[in-house]
Amino acid sequence: METGNEQKNGDTIMKENEESAAGVADAADVGDVAAAAMASNIAGAAVSAQTAFEGLQLPKSVLVFDTTLRDGEQTPGVNLTADQKFELALALDDLGVDVLEAGFPASSDGERELFRRLSREGLNAKVCGLSRACKPDLDAVLDNGANYVHIFLATSELHMKHKLKMTRQQVLDAAVDSVEYVRSHGLPCEFSAEDATRTDMGFLKQVYCAVEGAGATMLNVPDTVGVSVPRAYYLLVKEIKEATRTPISVHAHNDLGVAVANTLAGVEAGASQVQVTMNGLGERSGNAALEDTVVALANAYGVGTNIKKEHLLSVSQMVARATRVHPPRNKPVVGENSFAHSAGIHVHGVLAHALAYEPYSPETVGQKRRIILGKLTGFAAVKNVLSQMGFDVTDEQAKQVTAKVKEMGDAGRRIQDFELVGLAEKMVGIQRKAHIALGQVLITTGNSIMPTASVKAVVDGKERTACATGVGPVDAALNALSEVSGERSAKLKEYKLEAISGGSDAVCEVTVTIEDAEGRRRSGFAIGQDIVMASVEAMASGMNNRYSHEDNRKAVAMAKSNAARVSE
Ligand SMILES: [Zn+2]
Repeated sequence: METGNEQKNGDTIMKENEESAAGVADAADVGDVAAAAMASNIAGAAVSAQTAFEGLQLPKSVLVFDTTLRDGEQTPGVNLTADQKFELALALDDLGVDVLEAGFPASSDGERELFRRLSREGLNAKVCGLSRACKPDLDAVLDNGANYVHIFLATSELHMKHKLKMTRQQVLDAAVDSVEYVRSHGLPCEFSAEDATRTDMGFLKQVYCAVEGAGATMLNVPDTVGVSVPRAYYLLVKEIKEATRTPISVHAHNDLGVAVANTLAGVEAGASQVQVTMNGLGERSGNAALEDTVVALANAYGVGTNIKKEHLLSVSQMVARATRVHPPRNKPVVGENSFAHSAGIHVHGVLAHALAYEPYSPETVGQKRRIILGKLTGFAAVKNVLSQMGFDVTDEQAKQVTAKVKEMGDAGRRIQDFELVGLAEKMVGIQRKAHIALGQVLITTGNSIMPTASVKAVVDGKERTACATGVGPVDAALNALSEVSGERSAKLKEYKLEAISGGSDAVCEVTVTIEDAEGRRRSGFAIGQDIVMASVEAMASGMNNRYSHEDNRKAVAMAKSNAARVSE
């Protein structure tokens, strides 16, 4: 795939696609199931990849068509600004997607401007614009710098009759005319038979053969409404594959929770491209998640992509921040719990050999292994976490900390790192002064003024004052506190507010997690009746827990030498 946005003539594109299609076929012909089995990291699998995929013509690699900025942006409640879309497009390009569907140019001036901006940027990915099968839509794509066109037109009886109010013949004609129009401009043209999974098979084949004849370069088979399951989707894609010669793409929705499984079934059936979104964003229950699909293809099938997997977590987090749709903790690949272990037996196993309870190494997707302490935590985990924090404790001390951790866990608490530091300090006999001692906090807020906060505090022995504004009183107060602490680079990663009792005078608990410039996290906690004050105190407690592992090591050494002097 060439770089830059220069347009190619139709023949070159055609040839390129034929070559890539041939490449896919070659890879399968030479018995790459064996290679796939070798590449797969399911070591010692009960059913080997060789057996599981016997008889299938798996490709060596597939293309990734990312539609985070189009189908993903159609997630209810998500609205991205042009600048956000531009930044995300650059990140997705860096990630290595082959086709980047940046939006729907016919829909707004902002979308068209985005395409012009992206075309000036010269991305490695093809920049694709979505279009209905009509000339004004197509011109909006063609005139604004896209170098790849994705046409969709519904083919199911339900859609044709009630939505489009078109006959089969009218749909066939519009599809063919649109594809020919794009190809006369020399651009690659992908065609989607919208609602393919609910379309009459005979008519569906007729449509795909017709657009293939008109020069379509990729045939996408969308499960638009998410009604299919892997076995059915496999048979559908296989049948289209056998009826045509053009590369096939798959597009699955997650209404039945099987979008990724359907996408994989599509690849098993011969698809050479997957349409996916970061974090599985998309209409209703979303699309197949890019990260899950890519990792499953690589690990379970030995099928490659151009995705730089080690960037998956950072791009996922960037998408989550922009869309404000945060993947659940237990989301595969990029979830906070994907490589977190809490139960004693699992922690012990993972510390003995990581693969004991991890399907693959967290670093491969930009993640880190984390040990979470709770009531099921055992001695090995506590000792490991303490030593990672810089506390070189004896077995006896670690046992005492473990007992305390279990006690807190039994009371329903999730043990925060600052609490563990506190326990360890007590055990080893360390006394440290607080970095920040809060003084006066003054906040003004209302329905017609900008929320403003001023915070006075003693920071490392010096009195300091700072003022800041924010979107609300909590935001303003936390901004002022970051300013006064001198830790402007510290980012608030997590803010959790829980009301313990009912009513507007409820006692609330605030937990915050702060991340410093080096990516180290620490948490803080406070309890109170005033939400704003509890938030400020939680943030200050997090900032006070700023000791590096080296600081902890020094403090432990100091405490030991003091103890030795006293006993002499
Ligand atoms: Zn869709």
